[in-house]
Amino acid sequence: MPTVRPLGLMMRHHIVYGNLWCRQQAQWPRRYKATSATVASKSSSKSSLPPHCLLPTKMLLRSLLVTTISSHRWLLTPALKFLSLIVHPRMSLLDVNKNTILHRVMKTTFYNHFCAGENGTEVRATIGNIKDMGFKGVILTYAREVVVDASKASTETAATDRKLEVSTIGSSNNADIEAWRQGVLETAGMVGKGDILALKLTGAGEPAMRALAANQPLPDQMSAALQEICAAAIKRQARIFIDAEQQSVQPAIDNIALDLMKQFNVDGKTVVYNTYQAYLKSTPATVLAHLKVADDHHFTLGIKLVRGAYIAAEPRDLINNTKSDTDNSYNSIAEGVIRRRYGEFGHRDKPFPSTELFLATHNKESALLASTLINEQITMGLPVTQVQYGQLLGMADGVSCRLLQLGDSDTGTRSSAAPEVFKCLSWGTLGDCLSYLYRRAVENRDAVGRTKEEYFQLRQEVLRRIKTSLS
Ligand SMILES: Cc1cc2nc3c(=O)[nH]c(=O)nc-3n(C[C@H](O)[C@H](O)[C@H](O)COP(=O)(O)OP(=O)(O)OC[C@H]3O[C@@H](n4cnc5c(N)ncnc54)[C@H](O)[C@@H]3O)c2cc1C
Repeated sequence: MPTVRPLGLMMRHHIVYGNLWCRQQAQWPRRYKATSATVASKSSSKSSLPPHCLLPTKMLLRSLLVTTISSHRWLLTPALKFLSLIVHPRMSLLDVNKNTILHRVMKTTFYNHFCAGENGTEVRATIGNIKDMGFKGVILTYAREVVVDASKASTETAATDRKLEVSTIGSSNNADIEAWRQGVLETAGMVGKGDILALKLTGAGEPAMRALAANQPLPDQMSAALQEICAAAIKRQARIFIDAEQQSVQPAIDNIALDLMKQFNVDGKTVVYNTYQAYLKSTPATVLAHLKVADDHHFTLGIKLVRGAYIAAEPRDLINNTKSDTDNSYNSIAEGVIRRRYGEFGHRDKPFPSTELFLATHNKESALLASTLINEQITMGLPVTQVQYGQLLGMADGVSCRLLQLGDSDTGTRSSAAPEVFKCLSWGTLGDCLSYLYRRAVENRDAVGRTKEEYFQLRQEVLRRIKTSLS
């Protein structure tokens, strides 16, 4: 007869023992290299466990709560309405900074699910937990942001709604740039070796946005801040992602990213990555143009490939006609870079330039396709570009954990590469993170299929753990 244990004990048992085996997998060497392992028999049983077995029980239960809400429209609609009310509270009852009960409820549920922490101590603890699960590292970003409508040349601070002072492009000591510099440097102080610091350049406020929109040189204060930030990242052996934004500012962001790469991505090091949005019709050509710049100037091109987050705000004619066109564009850019054959590059008289690829995606097909291509190249002894993968904290855990499992299950009798997987974390006070939380809720609503699939997989994993505990 099965022994029935109290629920609390069952949970502890699973935190301590239930995931021990999964964690052991996670601690196996994950360096990106051809491996010829002798663990074929062990690995087949490992890969047969569901991907969510890697989640600690507390995280699993919180994920189940959040996906239950996200995958049921009758729960999500009021939840979204409620979130939109507390982002811009009109009464103290709805203000997370004034209502301590609301603060606690939000912090222990949605905030802890999607965000890294309110201060250095909390963020470091979250990063430690992520790495214990087998993730290679984190991409860290400061959530306090300035939402920019560059086309209207206006700004609004999402976190606090404060009014920005209008300042000129050449201003020597602008408060917004200084606040951005301090926030980013504080973030840089929390990342470690191999981690990544994500920078949103328009986050520096009005002067930065105006310079970017006009494709003019950045204010000196901002250029100096960027140099200081790069130096801080290098000191910590971390890297930098320059986030892609709206098209009205993106050409200037591309130029800044290329300049930083020319300066820092030399001597075999890749410090800076630019972001390429596959939903834009122009992106395959942009990637080719940047490969040429990297080739001409002898630096490593850091490519972070995303599909693109501003579809609702961009002129529609700039974007691929259909979702499947974007999927094809994403996968073919990834394939070209992985196989090191892209445009005129990758042929005998035109070797492929030094490049590193980061696939930032929640799309399982794209991630698994890339992993298959890499293994094919390795098996055939062909050149291959180093690839890493990333998903947002609290999103697409099934994809992240599947990639982690591949690292162990693929190492059978053939040569293969263990995927290096990162989680992208936002940090900041609950008040600062509310807009970010709202966007995650909307994204979950828009990705209905994936949210439902995630919900069913999480529910199955909870049931599996309960059954295992009872048996
Ligand atoms: C770690 C990380 C970092 C990111 N950084 C950035 C960044 O710097 N800049 C940025 O813009 N985004 C960024 N994103 C967001 C990203 O661009 C996508 O919006 C998001 O990840 C969803 O795309 P997906 O690849 O996960 O897959 P999916 O969910 O399969 O694809 C959804 C995407 O497909 C595209 N799409 C949807 N419908 C259509 C349509 N009808 N026609 C054409 N295309 C369509 C859109 O880009 C949409 O976001 C980041 C995402 C991650 C995980």
